[in-house]
This record gives sequence, C-alpha cells and structure tokens, in this order.
Amino acid sequence: MPIKLERKHAFPIALVPLMLAVGFILFKLFTASKVTNPETGRTHRIGLNPEQEQKLGLEAYAQVRHDEASKLVQSGSEVELVKLVTAKLAKAAARKGDIHYDWEVSVIRSAEVNAFCLPGGKIVVYTGILPVTQHAAGLATVLGHEMAHATSRHGAERLFRTEITQTLLGGVQGSLAQMDPVKRQAIMAALGAGTKYGNTLPFSREQESEADHIGLLYMARAGYDPQEAVAFWQRMDAQRRKGSTPEYLSDHPSHSTRIGQIEKWMPEAQKEFVQYNHAPAA
Ligand SMILES: [Zn+2]
Repeated sequence: MPIKLERKHAFPIALVPLMLAVGFILFKLFTASKVTNPETGRTHRIGLNPEQEQKLGLEAYAQVRHDEASKLVQSGSEVELVKLVTAKLAKAAARKGDIHYDWEVSVIRSAEVNAFCLPGGKIVVYTGILPVTQHAAGLATVLGHEMAHATSRHGAERLFRTEITQTLLGGVQGSLAQMDPVKRQAIMAALGAGTKYGNTLPFSREQESEADHIGLLYMARAGYDPQEAVAFWQRMDAQRRKGSTPEYLSDHPSHSTRIGQIEKWMPEAQKEFVQYNHAPAA
C-alpha cells in the first residue's frame, strides 16, 4: 500500500532536524561540567575547563594590550592605586572557594568610562572610570564586581550558551590570534572584553546580580566600606541621567533593582568587613 510506504519514509526524514537538535543539546550537556559558586551557591553549566578558559582569557588580554599598546600606562599613581586595590581584592577572593588566579591588571589612558576582567583574572581599567570611582573604595566596587564575573566563570557560562564553544572544543581553531576576525570578535565579546569588541552578549541579569553580590563581599573582606558601592552606582547613574551613558553601563546595564539588592546584601557584607578587618586578636 502506497500510503504505508510514504509514512515509512516521511517519518524519519521529518525527525532529522529534531534529532540533530537533540544530539547537539546532548553533546553540550555531556561535554559541559557543572560548577557551584562558593560564595552564592548558584550552580551553572560551563562549556570550557579552567585551562581552556584561562588560555582564552590570556589570549584575549594579549589582544587588548596589542590593540591598545600606545595607550598603556606603565607607571604612576593611577597604576599604583589600581594594583593595590586589585591585590587586596585578590586576597579577599582567595578566602573562600578554590580561587588561585594569576591576577594581572593593565591601565589604559582613555576617556572611556570602563573596566573589565577576563577569564583567569586579567583585568583592564580605562583611566576614564577613575573620576567616577573617585577613591580606592569606589574602585574596589568596580574591580570587585569585575573580578567576581571572572571567579564566577561568567564568560565560560556565556560561551556555553552559544555555539562558539563547539568550535573551540572541536580543536578546529588553534588560538584567538589565528581565528577569523568575526569569530575572534564574538569570543572577545562573550568573554567580556569591553564594548570595543561588540556587545552582542551582555551579562545576564542573574550574572550581574551575582557579580554585585560577590563584589560587595570581596570589597568588604578587603577592608573597603561596602556602603561605598551604593555611592558609586549612584554616581554612575548620575552620569547616565546627564545624558552621557558611560561605556561601563552599556556593558553592564543599570537596573533599578541594583541598589535595592545591594542594600539587601549590606548586613552580610558589613559582617564580613568586621570579621576580616576588625576581629579581636586571638
Ligand atoms: Zn557586570
């Protein structure tokens, strides 16, 4: 009977796209590992192991330094301040979980109001953000938040949500430098290398919230008054209201809930501030 024959052939053919999609999802799930954040307890999947992620972060960092070579600030008070705050926050981050990063920071002379931290702990600060951070505690707010994106492996989480991971894991592409510019740009954007490389994959609300939370704990633990985080975000918001949205906000959208959430975490941060900085001598 012809009808039977038709059914016999039509059935599997119609299923092919679905099978491919299921296969792709299963491949992603089996090649991904689950990580639990030591600070917040949130569990998420990532598509890269720490070595792959750090290699990629290091390559992206080299690319940024290459692209901005003429604007790199080598020494001076700005570099000293940025390095000091980074070192204190790095120590604070290592207090919980298994965070052994080779932290490094570059300062770029630019009016851009921006800063970011790549996977593996490579940080870039644009001098344009310093008038907004105003002081060490303001800078600790930004760097704590950025370092939390890295320690929480948000870049790898974002990459996992794209098909780029498969290309990377397939070993087809060697390094970032050898990739075609479009792909390189997409990966740089996913890793969070600033608006210069595109903003096609902004951090999710959940990741932003987690970075705010952990960043607040890092700064408090490092000895900076966590209340300064509220003041910093208010200054940032004031810039936006004046009509000039800072690059930092276009990459990290400002939510009306942000300050409210920070206030909610404030008692926890204050506790850490006292525990790590004013504990009575044993
Ligand atoms: Zn962020």
